Parts: sequence; C-alpha cells; structure tokens
Amino acid sequence: MGLKGGGRMEPAQVLYFGQHNRFEDGTDERKQFREAMHKELDKFLDQLTGVFEGERRETLAELSDMLTQKRGDFLGACLQHLLEERYSEALNKEESSCPHCGNPCRKRRDITKKLQTMQGPCQLKRPWFYCVSCGRGFVPVDTEAEISRREKQFDLQKRAIKLSAQLPFACASEEFEDLTGQTMSDHSMHDVFEEVGIHAVPEAVVPSEGEICKRIEQTSTGKWRPVLVVASDAAKLPTRPKAKRNARRGAGRYKDAKGFRIYLAGKGRLVHIASWHQIQPEEQFGADLALAASRIPQERVRIALLGDGADWLWKHMRACFPKGREVLDFYHCSEHVYEVAKVQYGEKSTEALEWVEATLCRLFYGEVGHVIAGLRRMKPKTAQAEELIRKLVAYLKEHRRRINYRALRLGGYPIGSGGIESANKFICHTRMKRSGAWWVKATGNLMLGIRCAIYNGTYDHVFDLYKRSSLSSAGEHRDC
Ligand SMILES: [Zn+2]
Repeated sequence: MGLKGGGRMEPAQVLYFGQHNRFEDGTDERKQFREAMHKELDKFLDQLTGVFEGERRETLAELSDMLTQKRGDFLGACLQHLLEERYSEALNKEESSCPHCGNPCRKRRDITKKLQTMQGPCQLKRPWFYCVSCGRGFVPVDTEAEISRREKQFDLQKRAIKLSAQLPFACASEEFEDLTGQTMSDHSMHDVFEEVGIHAVPEAVVPSEGEICKRIEQTSTGKWRPVLVVASDAAKLPTRPKAKRNARRGAGRYKDAKGFRIYLAGKGRLVHIASWHQIQPEEQFGADLALAASRIPQERVRIALLGDGADWLWKHMRACFPKGREVLDFYHCSEHVYEVAKVQYGEKSTEALEWVEATLCRLFYGEVGHVIAGLRRMKPKTAQAEELIRKLVAYLKEHRRRINYRALRLGGYPIGSGGIESANKFICHTRMKRSGAWWVKATGNLMLGIRCAIYNGTYDHVFDLYKRSSLSSAGEHRDC
C-alpha cells in the first residue's frame, strides 16, 4: 500500500474511509490521500498563477469564470483518487463470479473507462471478466459503484435531463454547459431522456400512499376534514406522425392530452398531491385515475370532483371517487355564458356585461331554473345566437346538480378549477407548445411523464428506476 511516484494510489486491501476505521487503520490512508491531493492542488495552482503575468487586471467575473474553467481537472482528479481508494478491492480482483450463472470467472484484462461527472473528467482502470458458459463479459465494479455504461455519469445525466424537461434540447445543452461547466450534447440528452422517460409511468410518478397521507396530515387542522380536489381536463397538444430524420414530416394535428390534478385545498393554500397528463384514450385515463385513487385514504378527506362539460371525465371521476361531490367548473360555465352574450348583445357592450353579471350571479346562488327560463324567453338576434342559446340551455340542464356554487363555497369546496388550469399551463403548455414544436405522440408522452414527476416530487424515484435498470444491463456490455 502507499503512493507511487505518479501520484496515483496503489490498491489498499481494506476500505479505510469508513467511519468505523476512522481512528484505527484509516490514518495512513487518509494521510496518503491528502498528499496525493496536495500534488493535484499544486498542478491546479500552477494553472492559476498565470494571472500574475498579465498586464491587465481581470474583473471579478473573469477570475470566477477562469476558476470554473480550470477546476474540472482538479476536482476530476480528486474524484478519481477517491474512487480508486474506495473501490481498491474490487479494482484488484483477479476472480469474480458471473452475475448470471454464478460460476467463478477469471479476469481477462483491465479496461480503462473515461468518466464525465459534475466534477469534471476522470478515468478508471477496471478489471473485465468473461464467463465462458454464458458467453458474456462483465465488469463487477461498475455495478458496485453504479457507474453508467455511458461516458456521462448519472449525477450529470440526472441534472441534464431535468433541465431538458424545461427547455428544448439544443437550448438545454447550451445552458447546461454555461451553468455547470460540463458538457452534454443535445443528442445525448435526447437519448438519455427517452431512457429515463420510459420509467415515468403512473405507478412511479404518482406519489406513494405514505407520502400522500403525510400531505393530508399536514393540511388537516381542526375538526373539518380537508377538501381534496380532483380536477380533470384535456389540453390540446401539437402532434405529428413519426418520421425518419430528414424525411418529410406528415401533417401535424392537435391531440388531447387528458389529465388530472389532485390537490388539497387547505386554509388559504393549495397542497399539491399529483398531476398526470398523457395523450391517451379515455379508458387509459380512467385506469390511471383509479391508480391514483387507490393511494388516497378517501375517508380522511372530503372530495370535490371538478370538471367541464365532457362526459368521459365525469364517468371516470365518479367511478374512482364514488363519494365525491361533483362541481361544474365555474370558469368553464361562465365561458359559455359569455359566448351567448357576445353574439346576442355584441362584444363588450354594456348590455352584454350586465346580462353576464346577472346570469352568473343567479348561477352562483343555484338558481339554474330561472336562468334557463330567461334564456328561453330570449329573442335570438341571429341564427348563431339561437344555436348558442339552445346549447347553453342543454348544458345547464345536464349539469344542473353540479351548479350550486354558493352552497359549495359555504362548505369550503372550490368552485373553479384554477388548479388544473395552471397545472395544464405548467405541465403541458410551457414546454410542449413552443413555436414550431410538434411532438411525436410517444415522445410527447415521455416528456409529459417526466414533467409530471418533477411537479409531483417523484423525479428522484423515476430516475432511480432508470438507473437500476440501466445498471442491471450495464455489467453485461462487452464494449465497456
Ligand atoms: Zn455465467
């Protein structure tokens, strides 16, 4: 054990950095690590002292940028020393059992792998084994230290993918380099993004029952059970058919991303529970909502089901939350009222405003019958007005029992799905509706999944699933 001239460590036979060895055997190894790092620090300082030769004095920002640029080599070397020391045993193995059949295998050769991390570049020489019976090669230390088969390591991937969920890939790649000093190409981001996205399924993206209970507990105060709002909606997303790169794209069209947002309406604040949006048929929406419902202790909350006119959405919400109180979204409802006013009385006319105000006020007090009677007495000014009035009457009749806003308000229930409107804007629109962005459905859904995970606080879990699955196959790669 000890250091050789090159400054790189020789293998230690025992792992010494663990807490329990702190005052016993670890002293020498730590001393050696410090010495090795002092040498690296000297190299780093040599690079910095160049500034004293210049004529012009650098600004603070220039000096800071210079450090950002040069620290990678130093910290990368630091990381390499740590890895070599902590995994010295695994790195020096001559024999290892095959992860598939368990047969003992001999080391064939060492393979040096380049690693890119948040700290900077480094490399690791590790033993490669080959199982004759399975016909497979494997690198045990990669599994043990969780080393990605890619050059870009998981710490870097995790942050880059999170950024690419907020910005277009090319833009995310540029910003990532600017902010971290580390690089990841947009292609590489896109590839990893797809691999991570596969794990952003509702089972992983919707928080666990334990986590949901915790949030309910935090919101519960006094004798009233908190109101849990389930709001469903659809947002139009620009999609296009899948085409090969550089091939002519097919015509794009808008498809519905169906989604729900579940939150607790606490005193003066909303506590988010789960969002889930996908471009998918309504049956799948129903299945996903049922999964979320199964994780909610429904007897511990009062449930409000918020939606607009669409039938499919009520059907599934009722099936998943049989005790939920149905509420026609006040804002959706008022939009229909405005439409009638516009064609009947003219846009922004005083008459229109007065009629809208009176009508909404009546609806707020649950006087749906009066409003319907009033609409029937109206003399439509145009054929369009006649059609819209007829539609509004039908709409109000259909949703009559979902319109009693005053009573709902008094009971502490929300009457408008401001919640889902803003979730739709945040989850769907900000990243998905950029100009010129047309999504292939599958990719669009992966993006929606990752964005929901970030919003729900389950991104770490989703990334962890990706990491596990990628590690379980990484050891088998022959070209590592
Ligand atoms: Zn084997």
